[in-house]
Amino acid sequence: MKIYLGPGGNCLTAKESSTFGSFERLKELNLNAQEIEFVRSIYLSPKAAEEVGRQAKNYGIELSVHAPYFINLLSDKKETVEASIERIVESADRAERMGAKFVVVHAAYYGKLSREEAFEKMKEVTIKIIEGIEEARIRNVKLAYETMAKESQFADLDELLRLMKEVKSKFLTVCVDFAHLYCRENGKIDYSQILEKVKSFSHIHSHFSNVKYNLKTKKFVDVHVSINSHPPFESLAKEILRRKITITIISESPKLELDSLRMKEVFEKFGYKF
Ligand SMILES: [Zn+2]
Repeated sequence: MKIYLGPGGNCLTAKESSTFGSFERLKELNLNAQEIEFVRSIYLSPKAAEEVGRQAKNYGIELSVHAPYFINLLSDKKETVEASIERIVESADRAERMGAKFVVVHAAYYGKLSREEAFEKMKEVTIKIIEGIEEARIRNVKLAYETMAKESQFADLDELLRLMKEVKSKFLTVCVDFAHLYCRENGKIDYSQILEKVKSFSHIHSHFSNVKYNLKTKKFVDVHVSINSHPPFESLAKEILRRKITITIISESPKLELDSLRMKEVFEKFGYKF
């Protein structure tokens, strides 16, 4: 087993606000992962991605990539779907060049489609993306659709696992966003059940943060906050250690690496050595 912890995006407390500055800071803090956020744009050229990969390797940092937010694979506009596929394949290309294993994607909105229609269409589109990945000679990157917070968003964990089962490709996996699953179930989470479902994965990629509670609507909303107890972290850490799994946990809290540090302290408290 191995645990990788680090921020989604560059460290906030780095001396120099750049990717390399962030790696320096991660080394100081003894953290070992970072997600490169292409959420607004794919800001690295192929060459720059290779350089980032070399640096990360020097620092012993496990990289992943988050694809742009401007993606909707279930759009009824053909151009939107095609542009979305292109953005994902381009993100995967940069990921391959930097030695990142996962490219995380917010796949889609159901829109007017029924769940079943959405599923069938996602299957088709996913196969297309994988063909694009193969054509681009990408070998080591997995497409990781993220578990999403809202009922209007594709998809929950079960649907994503079903997609993996039916598409049957080594290029497809899931990004387990614990905060999103907690929102989707409005304040409930069973870590043991979730990790049981993904126990065949050799390396689980995940996101963790806490979420806001709206007193008026009595609902948890997908607004990320620093770690307190919604959802709790300690019980997740215990379950991970009990199962001896290899997992990356990207902190998506507003405190980024500082919350990764708190996660690290929890694992160390329970006896894990980084
Ligand atoms: Zn995300």
